[in-house]
Amino acid sequence: MQSLLELNQTELALWLARELGEKRFRAQQIFQWLWQKLVRDIAQMSNVSLRTRELLAQKASIPWPRIVTIQKSQDGTTKFLLELGDGARVETVLIPAEDHAGRIRWTQCLSSQIGCPMACTFCATGQSGFTRNMTAGEILSQVLIGRDYLGDTRPDHPILRNLVFMGMGEPLMNCQELLKALEILNDPHGLAFSPRRITVSTCGIKDGLAKLGAAGLSYLAVSLHAPNQALREKIMPRAARLPLDELLRCLRSYPLKNREHITFEYLLLRDVNDSPSQAHELAKIVHSVHGKLNLIVYNATNGPYQAPSPERVLDFEKALWSHHLTAIVRQSKGQDIDAACGQLKARFEN
Ligand code: SAH
Repeated sequence: MQSLLELNQTELALWLARELGEKRFRAQQIFQWLWQKLVRDIAQMSNVSLRTRELLAQKASIPWPRIVTIQKSQDGTTKFLLELGDGARVETVLIPAEDHAGRIRWTQCLSSQIGCPMACTFCATGQSGFTRNMTAGEILSQVLIGRDYLGDTRPDHPILRNLVFMGMGEPLMNCQELLKALEILNDPHGLAFSPRRITVSTCGIKDGLAKLGAAGLSYLAVSLHAPNQALREKIMPRAARLPLDELLRCLRSYPLKNREHITFEYLLLRDVNDSPSQAHELAKIVHSVHGKLNLIVYNATNGPYQAPSPERVLDFEKALWSHHLTAIVRQSKGQDIDAACGQLKARFEN
């Protein structure tokens, strides 16, 4: 069985020609059924001949994940536990935000791996180990679930606005499938997400950064979390195998679009990386790549860390201000449902 969710439009056209002797334009129609009309059943593709639908159904499938549970927070944040074809389970989260006109727009937090190989010391997913990469189709099937749940089927008025790869896994350790998913996301006959509506978050993988930059299919966020190599080695030892100097060099040559900036994420851990002097170090780093900065208040998990107090966070911000650096402090959402991917906090706004 061929999963139709694993093929980009060109591959689908070739596959249809090879397997069913179909013409190219069929691929565009079928693609729209899959990604815009959200059909899960080949029989529903009503502009495809009955004969073709029957043949297609013998050779191909549309494997949506099974929803195991949905948890909804008081603030609207909605977490899904999904089960994939082989029984592996993964989380995805929908996060609401009001736009300037007061309408609700959603951001979806996507997973890219089952577990994560990076084993960052503060991260629940990292501490739970690594099972396997997700395929491009599995990555994208999360978006199908999200759009279906939101009733988001009008391409001219998308309700699901932004996608962030901040769920389970290190996306750049699964580069091939990630890039394929981004390509299918960008297809105007498919999900039609422009690169400006997608953010890939990474702890910094050298090869992956080069490939992601060359593809130009998303924004980039980098999980920094420490203002120097020594501390980074302590709290995210595997990520720190790419030395900070070298990471910053990669980022300085990272291709950016017009008015685009790299975003740094900095997770504040009490008495570990939250001192004003560390803020000074951090400001220099952020300025050195003309980046933006998001501060994330640690969402306590079972690990050895604690969140800093609000006063401590403010002192940190003040130290940044002295370098003319204004950070966005990410508001935690969905606290009452323990929101988010393997305990990653749903904290993303538009
Ligand atoms: N592996 C990628 C993306 C997944 S994690 C990356 O490292 O960027 C998304 C973000 O959540 C990262 O910045 C990660 O460090 C952060 N995170 C992990 N555990 C967290 C916690 N307990 N509280 C808040 N943020 C956390």
